[in-house]
Amino acid sequence: MKKLLLRWFDNEYATKKSQIKDPQAIDWRRIVPFIVLHLGCLMVLWVGFSWTAFWVMLMSYLIRMFAITAFFHRFFSHKSFQAKKWVARSFAVIGTAATQRGPLWWAAHHRHHHIHSDQDGDAHAPKHGFWNSHMLWFLREENFKTNKAKVKDLSQDPFLVWVDRHDMLFPVLYALLLWAVGSVYAAVFPTAGTSGLQWLVWGYFIATVLLSHVTYTINSLSHVFGTQDYETGDESRNHWLLAVLTLGEGWHNNHHCYPGSARQGFKTWQIDISYSALKLMAKLGWVWELKQPNPVVLNKKRIRSRA
Ligand SMILES: [Zn+2]
Ligand SMILES: [Zn+2]
Repeated sequence: MKKLLLRWFDNEYATKKSQIKDPQAIDWRRIVPFIVLHLGCLMVLWVGFSWTAFWVMLMSYLIRMFAITAFFHRFFSHKSFQAKKWVARSFAVIGTAATQRGPLWWAAHHRHHHIHSDQDGDAHAPKHGFWNSHMLWFLREENFKTNKAKVKDLSQDPFLVWVDRHDMLFPVLYALLLWAVGSVYAAVFPTAGTSGLQWLVWGYFIATVLLSHVTYTINSLSHVFGTQDYETGDESRNHWLLAVLTLGEGWHNNHHCYPGSARQGFKTWQIDISYSALKLMAKLGWVWELKQPNPVVLNKKRIRSRA
């Protein structure tokens, strides 16, 4: 049992102990928590619904989606803006609570994706099958390890390295926090008809499953469905619905055209909620130098017949 816990909660231990026999094989021992995450949603049959639980679920979804899109993606992976250290570290923790591994693992895989997009080396290219691009890719043995060579810059911060090493700790603490705060809330406001367990189920299990699968669609659906405004040499697409659900990531063809931009909705009607939130944070002085796409590059890559 101790070994299994170490395997889940200490990635250094897990990568040292596991010898990759078959890189393509699904690492079943590692993914028990991933299965538990999905099964946890079934507890809704037991805890029921309340509007309080619904709003907790929505907030839990939005804040962690923002941490993933604005920080794991636009900040840690692409360095598309500057941020105060405490802000970056806080969102590293919140993003890790989204249960998509740690910031170094996430950024290393994502940088690899941009180099090999839709080619054989792309771990989640839809040409290798929908389910592979959606979720099987990160359940495979070969993709478990953090490729440190790709994130040397981020490895300079020992805090980020520690969070990345013990990434599983954060979703567990987050879930317990929701349970505890929900229990206090239910005791103080008994007429709300909620409970600590209801906060746990809606705020962690349901919100996390939704957040996870919506994020995965950027790898699976955003390279298949939607329109291409720019010639990017890959299959990346723009889709308004995915952009709304992912707070701006659905403008994925735009993003592959100019990955260094903090903004992904290039046209005024292309709603990019994360970018709007970043502009608000810039007013507070928490982030700055939000990089913009270069109009000359956009003009060069624009697909005329569809523009
Ligand atoms: Zn992509
Ligand atoms: Zn990217």
